[in-house]
Amino acid sequence: MVSIIKKELYKKIIKIIKEYDEIVLARHIGADPDAIASQIALRDSIRLTYPNKKVYAIGAGVHKFRYLGNLDKVNLKELDDALLILLDVPNFIRVDGIEDLEYKAILKIDHHPAEDIIGDVDWTDDTMSSTCEMITNLILETKLDLDTKIAENLFLGMAFDSDRFLLQNTSKETFKTVYKLLDISKINFVPLYNNLYERSIVEEKFRAYAVENIVISENSFGFLNVTAEALKKYNVESSIVSHQVNDFFFIKELICWMFVVYDERNSIYKVNIRSRGPVINEIASKYNGGGHKYASGARTPNFKDIEKLAKDLDAACKKYMSEQDS
Ligand code: AMP
Repeated sequence: MVSIIKKELYKKIIKIIKEYDEIVLARHIGADPDAIASQIALRDSIRLTYPNKKVYAIGAGVHKFRYLGNLDKVNLKELDDALLILLDVPNFIRVDGIEDLEYKAILKIDHHPAEDIIGDVDWTDDTMSSTCEMITNLILETKLDLDTKIAENLFLGMAFDSDRFLLQNTSKETFKTVYKLLDISKINFVPLYNNLYERSIVEEKFRAYAVENIVISENSFGFLNVTAEALKKYNVESSIVSHQVNDFFFIKELICWMFVVYDERNSIYKVNIRSRGPVINEIASKYNGGGHKYASGARTPNFKDIEKLAKDLDAACKKYMSEQDS
C-alpha cells in the first residue's frame, strides 16, 4: 500500500514534469551506475510517456558504464524554460554539468542525507537503497511508462548501490520494489550482472596489490594509499580505486577502510571510505567530503588532511569497538 503522503508526493512530481516542455536531468560528478541509471531511466520514461517534450540527460559520460545508454550532448544556453531534475546528489557543488543552464524550477529525487539542494518539488529519503529504488517506485505508482531497457537500468542501479542487496541500505521495501519491477517487466536479470561484476585479470591483479598493501590498525581501520607507481605498474586508471573499495566488505579484520589515490590531472587526492561499523559521512564532511552513513568520499589537495581524516576514522573505529564490548 502506498501511503497518502507518498501519493501526494507522486502527484506533485508528475504535475511538475507535465508543466515543463524542456527537461534536463543531472546527477553527481564522478558518476556511478545508480546516478547514471536513474538519470537515463527517468529520461527515457518521460520521453515514452510525453513524446513531445524535449528531455535531456547530461553530464560526463563514463566509458565503463556505457551499457546503461547514451547521455545527451545539448547546448544548455539554448534552453530558457527548463525544469532541472537533480538525481542522486544532495549538494550543488557536486552536480555535474549545469553551469550553462538557466532553469526555472528544480525537482530533486535523492537518497543521500539532505544538504543544500532543496527542490521546488523535493523527494529526499536517505532510508532508500538507491535513487533507482525511488525512480522505480515512482514509475510503478504513476502514469510514467516503463519498457525493458528502463527496467533493466533500474534493476542495475538498485543492484549496484546495494551491492547485490547486501549492504545496510537494503530493506524489505527494496525487495518488494525489485519484485514488482521484475514481475511487471519480465526482464531477464541474471545476465545483467555481467555488466556490473565482470572484470579483467589486470583489475584482479590490482586488487591483489590492494589486499597486500592495505595497512590495518589495531582498531580494525584499513588505510590504502595507492601510489602513482602502483597505477603505472598495474597499468590502471585512478578510477579503479573507487570501483574496488566495495570489494573489501566482509573482510573480518576490517570495520572501516579508506582508499586514497592522487588524481594528477586535477591535483587532488580522491578518497573512498566504507564502513560496517561507525557512521562515517559526518567525519568525511569535515574534509570536503560526505555521502552516506556507511559509504562516503572526500577530495582534498592536501595530504595532511588525509592523515587527519585517517586518524579521525581510526578513532571512530576505536570508539565503535569499545561500545560493542560494553
Ligand atoms: P564513492 O566512494 O565515490 O563511491 O562515494 C560514496 C558516496 O559518497 C556517494 O554517495 C558519493 O556521492 C559520496 N561522495 C563521494 N565523494 C564525495 C565528496 N567529495 N563530497 C561529498 N560526497 C561525496
